[in-house]
Amino acid sequence: MAATALTLADAERLDRADPFLACREAFALEPGVIYLDGNSLGALPKATAPRLAQLISREWGGDLIKSWNTHDWIGAPRRVGAKIAALIGAQPTEVLAADSTSVNLFKLVTGAAMLAPSRRTIVSEPGNFPTDLYVIQGLETLLGARLRLKVAPREALGHAIDEDTALVVLTHVHYAAGRRWPMGEMTALAHAKGALMLWDLSHSAGALAVDLNAAGADLAVGCGYKYLNGGPGAPAFLFVAERHQGAIRSPLSGWMGHVAPFAFEDDYRPVSGIGRFLCGTPPILGLAALEAGVDLLAGVDMAVLEAKGLALADFFLRRVEAACPELILASPREGEDRGLHLCFTHPDAYPVVQALIERQVIGDFRAPDLLRFGFSPLYVSFRDVWRAVETLGQVLETRAFDNPRHRRMAAVT
Ligand SMILES: *Cc1c(COP(=O)(O)O)cnc(C)c1O
Repeated sequence: MAATALTLADAERLDRADPFLACREAFALEPGVIYLDGNSLGALPKATAPRLAQLISREWGGDLIKSWNTHDWIGAPRRVGAKIAALIGAQPTEVLAADSTSVNLFKLVTGAAMLAPSRRTIVSEPGNFPTDLYVIQGLETLLGARLRLKVAPREALGHAIDEDTALVVLTHVHYAAGRRWPMGEMTALAHAKGALMLWDLSHSAGALAVDLNAAGADLAVGCGYKYLNGGPGAPAFLFVAERHQGAIRSPLSGWMGHVAPFAFEDDYRPVSGIGRFLCGTPPILGLAALEAGVDLLAGVDMAVLEAKGLALADFFLRRVEAACPELILASPREGEDRGLHLCFTHPDAYPVVQALIERQVIGDFRAPDLLRFGFSPLYVSFRDVWRAVETLGQVLETRAFDNPRHRRMAAVT
């Protein structure tokens, strides 16, 4: 795009050339709403409610327990996992849809630590998504002095990885700043010291052209309710590279990961392959909603999807810089260095976000002073971006946010 001022006509021209323009129709978004928070909770696919209604009334209500076999409920974690695998550069047998991202982190971090009992550190970065650090800290407590979390800022991370490192845990796209790690480069750095590499793809899966196997990644986890549009609290996913599947063990040795769950044996014997990372009975309603979201990405060229998301963010950024000079960019300027959301700092970030939400422009606030806007390419248009910045400019210029009503903090921000 040229460096001249962008106009509404530019937005309309970009929308006409958008290969995903019709995809918005697959979502139950109200016409006036501009939804820039799909990176936190993806929008509702129109297919989800009828699919759940059918599952509840015909399968659960009608076919009852037979449905585990006749409707392949039992296969859902592997089936949905295989569909997610296609979006992240993994083989179908390397991904499982199960549990939450936090629980999957625990299973894989612990599994990796057990693979290298003589190595005593797990390396991550300060300011990583809290659950990633908390789960490692919990394992630290569980194992006593045997294992230690070592955090090092981005610039020093390479030096923090050494012969004592069992695993490096990084979030591919940072939840706040949106910075993106070079996946292949960091994985090679971990491998050079004999450590394994785990990627948290919560802000990448369904948004960016991720290629775990090309990067040589060992392990990965990610969210089902963000860009995969699986619904609030949707099951998450986990990835274990095929070369590790024989040796790695899950610390949550539940019956669903057993080689023969319905033999009801006393002794745990893990099934071979990714299935050993199942723990308890899979949540079939949640998996069905997740599958409806993931199906909307079937066959999508992720590189084209990523390019649209980055173009939306770039359009937003250029408009903000022209219309809202008081907002300071807190994300990398170049698209190749970030994911599909942008953060800006403002001392009144919380009330500004509330005033925007009241005007149907939905972004979110992240402590302590960040406004965050996500550009989910399946349902955000360039016109949406244009209108969002118009509204943002008005809210800031008129100080419409400066109202006690907008300053009351809710439990979830
Ligand atoms: C959203 C997010 C999570 C969420 O974990 P849950 O267990 O689903 O609550 C984890 N990690 C990152 C990086 C996230 O952005």
